[in-house]
Amino acid sequence: MSMIMKTPNNLTQLVECLKDIDENTYALSGGTDLIIKMKKDKIHKGTLIDLKGINELNYIKEENDFIRVGAGTTFTTIEESEIIKSNCICVSLASGQVGSTQIRNWATIGGNVANAFAGADLIPTLLLMDSKVVTINSHNERIERSIDEVIIGLGKNSLNRDEIIIEIIIPKYKGYESAFAKLGSRTRVTISKLNMSVLLKKEGNKILDSRVVLGALGPKAFRATMVEEFLNDKEIDEKLLDRFYEVLSKQVDEAIPTRKSRTYKREAIKGLGSDIYKQLLG
Ligand SMILES: Cc1cc2nc3c(=O)[nH]c(=O)nc-3n(C[C@H](O)[C@H](O)[C@H](O)COP(=O)(O)OP(=O)(O)OC[C@H]3O[C@@H](n4cnc5c(N)ncnc54)[C@H](O)[C@@H]3O)c2cc1C
Repeated sequence: MSMIMKTPNNLTQLVECLKDIDENTYALSGGTDLIIKMKKDKIHKGTLIDLKGINELNYIKEENDFIRVGAGTTFTTIEESEIIKSNCICVSLASGQVGSTQIRNWATIGGNVANAFAGADLIPTLLLMDSKVVTINSHNERIERSIDEVIIGLGKNSLNRDEIIIEIIIPKYKGYESAFAKLGSRTRVTISKLNMSVLLKKEGNKILDSRVVLGALGPKAFRATMVEEFLNDKEIDEKLLDRFYEVLSKQVDEAIPTRKSRTYKREAIKGLGSDIYKQLLG
């Protein structure tokens, strides 16, 4: 029983590695999810394809209408990036609230997406921004899908076995502001019990358009359309916050009508609502 480690240094070598993968082959990025899974599931044999040596997967580039983030980019790099901060602060905030400093130094955006965990912090912000996921496969083909197509359920993604995420494309929303808030189980190393990401366009005292995504409230993050419809075209006045709380609680009722956690989450979401309100409307 042994693990074979493959260490491609570039995408050409990665494609070669992808040609002979089987059900016991695992891509390894930061390892913050995978190593725990391997211990838990007692996985002692197979092949690890270590992506850390591929420098081509580590970048943040700004173009006219979007930002390209290499799949191997760590949360620390994303949190600190001026490109990310000035175009989609929610992605920086979500990255900055992941786990601990050590986790953020190792964990990657590609691993967060591929892992498809319901409580993941980056996935909801990427869904909010309508991001695309680019993969490469064993035939050296590049495939682009929406993040919503890639995350198909609790811990499940739609990638074929011979596909590796190489890039995330985040569109720019000019004239919009964004925010992120999360509620975790502990103060420093927290896996979200609930998170909320919001994108908002306003003019003077009026909200013109909104996008809202809730995470950790079901098998996968989703657009909170009830909340979006409530916010669109609203005047920002002293009555708005209480009505915002009400609609957030209703959205929780609709999402998890029979879950035990519903009573807690319909109250807890008001705390996130307050945080988001302060960031965008306060
Ligand atoms: C203590 C602790 C705290 C944490 N806190 C948070 C938190 O607050 N918020 C949060 O969102 N997450 C948290 N996590 C989870 C984890 O850190 C993230 O999900 C992280 O982004 C995973 O990235 P990674 O590079 O470590 O992935 P890995 O562990 O290397 O891989 C994860 C999975 O994705 C696959 N994979 C990796 N890279 C690719 C790729 N490029 N293409 C295709 N498949 C790939 C692997 O095969 C594996 O199945 C925490 C984990 C720990 C241990």
